[in-house]
Amino acid sequence: MIADLSASDLEAYGARIRADYDAFRARGLKLDMTRGKPAPEQLDLAEGLLALPGNRDHFTEAGDDARNYGGVQGLPEVRKLFSGALGASPANIVVGDNASLAMMHDSIVWALLKGVPGSERPWSKESEIAFLCPVPGYDRHFAICEEYGVRMIPVPLTGHGPDMDKVEELARDPAVKGMWCVPKYSNPSAELYSDETIRRLAAMKTGAPDFRLFWDNAYVLHHLTETRHEILNVIDACAAAGNPDRAFVFASTSKMTLAGAGLAFFASSEANVKWYLARASKRTIGPDKLNQLRHVRFLKDEAGLLAHMDKHRALLAPKFAAVTEALEARLGGQGAASWIKPEGGYFVSVDMTTGSASRVVTLAKEAGLLLTGAGATWPYGKDPHDANLRLAPSFPSLSDVKAASEGIAICMLLAAVEAEQAKRRAEA
Ligand code: PMP
Repeated sequence: MIADLSASDLEAYGARIRADYDAFRARGLKLDMTRGKPAPEQLDLAEGLLALPGNRDHFTEAGDDARNYGGVQGLPEVRKLFSGALGASPANIVVGDNASLAMMHDSIVWALLKGVPGSERPWSKESEIAFLCPVPGYDRHFAICEEYGVRMIPVPLTGHGPDMDKVEELARDPAVKGMWCVPKYSNPSAELYSDETIRRLAAMKTGAPDFRLFWDNAYVLHHLTETRHEILNVIDACAAAGNPDRAFVFASTSKMTLAGAGLAFFASSEANVKWYLARASKRTIGPDKLNQLRHVRFLKDEAGLLAHMDKHRALLAPKFAAVTEALEARLGGQGAASWIKPEGGYFVSVDMTTGSASRVVTLAKEAGLLLTGAGATWPYGKDPHDANLRLAPSFPSLSDVKAASEGIAICMLLAAVEAEQAKRRAEA
C-alpha cells in the first residue's frame, strides 16, 4: 500500500514511477480512450447490411412498399424481432431512426411542452422540475437535462443499482419528475440493477403523479462473458405494482449493427406508446423503413441477433481483459484505486482516491493518451470527489488498448504517489 510506505520508500517508489511515466511519454503515442464507439472491425460485422434489402426487395411482410412514406410506429416484423430484447409486445414498441438518444430527447421535450399521461400540466409549467441521476452516469443524459433546465440530483450507485433508500426519499418530492436509469451493464459502472432494486423503483411512492423512469437499456444484449445476464422486466414490474405508465424504455442497435445507421426503440405501456405516437406523427410522416427492412433481412430473428452479438463479444472481451489485467498488474494491492471488471457494456469505471481523477487525465494527456474528462460521469460535469474515471476500450486496436492501459495505470500510480506526498507535506 502506498499509504504505508516510509518517507524514504515513498520517495524511491515515486522516482521509479516518474521514470516509468517519462519512458511512456517518450514513446510519443497517440491513444484515445474517450468514447464508447464500436471499432471498425465491429462495424465490419454488419457490412452485409449495406447491400440490403437489395434490388427490388422493398416489400414488407404486409406487402407495403418500404420506400414510401408512412408506418410511423415501425414495421411489425422489426418490432417482433426486438420484442424479446425490449421486454414488450410488438404493439407496445415504436421504432425510431438511428439514435435512441433522440427518442429520449424528444420524450423530455414533449413532456415539457405537453406533459405525459397522468400529468396535470406540461412539465414546463411547473415551478421547478428535477431528475434523479444515478452516479456515475452517462454524460449525454445529463446534457439533455442541462439543456432544458431540469435540475439534476445525483444518487449513488451501489453495485446493484441506485441507493434505493435515497431514491425513495427523494422521489417523494413532487418536483422530481423522472430518473435516468441504465439498468444493465450501466454506463460506466457496468452494474446490473437487482430484482429488488427494480421492484422498488416500480412500486415506490412518488410525489409527482406523472413520474417516469427513463430506462435506457442501451446495453441490453452487450455481454462480455458467456453469461447472458438478464434483469427483471421493468414494464411488467411497473404494471404489477399498479404503476403501468411509469417506465419509458429505450434501446438501439447502435452497438449491434452500425452506430450511425442503426435502429432506435421506445417501448412502454399502451397509454405511453399512444402518447409517443401522437407526438411523433406530428414530427415525421414516417421513419426510414428501408433500414428497418435491411435489419430484418440481415439479422433474421432473435437467434440471429444473439449470434451477431457473440461476434462483438469475441472482439471486445480481449480489450476489456487487457484493461483490467494492466490495472491489476500495476495497481493491485496499492490502495490507490478501485475498478470494476465488467461483464458487459462498453466501459471500465475506475475510482481513484478523492481529488486525483483530474490529475490522471492531465498526466495522460501530456503523455499522448486521451481520457474522458474527469467529472464527465456526474451531472454538470462536476464530480465532487474528483475520483471517477471512465475508460472506453472499444474503439482502439487491441495493441493500442494494451499500450493505453499500461499508460493509464502508470498515470494513476503517479497521481496516487503525488497525492500521498502532498498529504504528508500538509500534515508535516
Ligand atoms: N445510452 C447510453 C447509456 C449510451 O452509453 C449510449 C452511447 N454511448 C447511448 C445511449 C447512445 O445511444 P444511441 O446511439 O442509440 O443514440
